[in-house]
Amino acid sequence: MYRKTPLEPWIMGKIAGRLGGKGSLTRYLIETYQMQKLKETLALAIDKSPFYRRRLNRRHVEKIRSFKDFQGLPFTTPGDLRQNPLQLLCISQDRINRVVTLDSSGTTGLPKRLFFTAGDQELTRDFFQHGMSTLVRPGDKVLILLPGELPGSVGDLLADGLRRLQALPIHHGLVRDPGAVLEIMTKERIDSLVGIPTQVLSLACSESPVQGADKIFLKSVLLSTDHVPVTIVSYLKKTWGCRVFNHYGMTEMGLGGGVECEALAGYHLREADLLFEIIHPETGEVLPEGEEGEVVFTTLTRQGMPLIRYRTGDIAGFIPEPCPCGTVLKRMSPVRDRVQGRIALTGGGILSMSRLDEALFAVKGVINFQAALSTENNTDRLDLIVQAAGWAAENVPFLVERALFSDPVISCNFRRGKLILAPIRVEPLRELRRPQKRVIRDLRSED
Ligand SMILES: [Zn+2]
Repeated sequence: MYRKTPLEPWIMGKIAGRLGGKGSLTRYLIETYQMQKLKETLALAIDKSPFYRRRLNRRHVEKIRSFKDFQGLPFTTPGDLRQNPLQLLCISQDRINRVVTLDSSGTTGLPKRLFFTAGDQELTRDFFQHGMSTLVRPGDKVLILLPGELPGSVGDLLADGLRRLQALPIHHGLVRDPGAVLEIMTKERIDSLVGIPTQVLSLACSESPVQGADKIFLKSVLLSTDHVPVTIVSYLKKTWGCRVFNHYGMTEMGLGGGVECEALAGYHLREADLLFEIIHPETGEVLPEGEEGEVVFTTLTRQGMPLIRYRTGDIAGFIPEPCPCGTVLKRMSPVRDRVQGRIALTGGGILSMSRLDEALFAVKGVINFQAALSTENNTDRLDLIVQAAGWAAENVPFLVERALFSDPVISCNFRRGKLILAPIRVEPLRELRRPQKRVIRDLRSED
């Protein structure tokens, strides 16, 4: 038996505060509440944001009665956050508490900018408190391996949420020296940690797998920020004997989006604050429940910069079967890929970072890698630079190659002479690089 996700009573509380009603949560209650909040958000956006006033048709919006009607509205894209960030604001700039500037890797070279009021940030703290109660108990020491220097940053809000749970957050920031972090883990007897998958893997790999394991008493790990390879989860479980939870979120969502329950079978979502849809990435059509597509969300409670039908670029799907924990909340399958991260190989089939992840992280001692595709004599050429633990076997290049050929798409392309594998370069683990978006660089058009 699994404990029901604590997000359910939390969401029930928010809905009951709004609609009244006692007793248990139902889909009907959730959807009635979501529809009301949706209408409020649309009205706010049309009234206050110059961008949405131009983008949305007021008469159309006023006629919305159902989710089906709502699905006729246009999407908001990351490009809109680059080009028009101030135009999306629904509040004067002096009431904004925090501005987040994200990567400038888009085609325009402009960064995405997100704006949050104090109230918006409070919603995030509240989610972190209730979400973390899935895996953390009062008195637990929780090591935070996420950026948190600035007030309102993810590490800072998470620490606030944990304090409200009467847990003891210890903020460390991103991992640069895995040995130093392991020392903190043993000295402080850390119960739980929150970090980025490859960074946490570097901790589990930084000593020989046997040495020192008896000094670590981790009960749980929460992985966030990047997609989570199954092979990393099983390695962490095996090394530390702990439970490994997935969290899904992005700055645009107000950092938190959803978190797994004890059943570890897909994220339960922040359904009182966010409305999720799954769409076909090319046609934009909403897909039937159970099909995988691009994740789109609408904020239901944000005041500074509400987002309407925002395209995340992540690929996932709702899981129609009820969760073993017995909640009425929806479940979303773990995000594995990005729409733009799916690369068509010349010889057929799709290569993605998640495919490479599952193959390469299955090799003991592999901590991270970079991948690039180029063209050589009209054939795809795959270049890999692998970062490996010091204790890893000298034959890592051979093991990596063997792991790659266990992938059917790669081996098929290779056998048909449509894919060349460049000699694999292995770098020892010294200092961890600042984690970046892990994507396959496709250099083929540049050749
Ligand atoms: Zn569940």
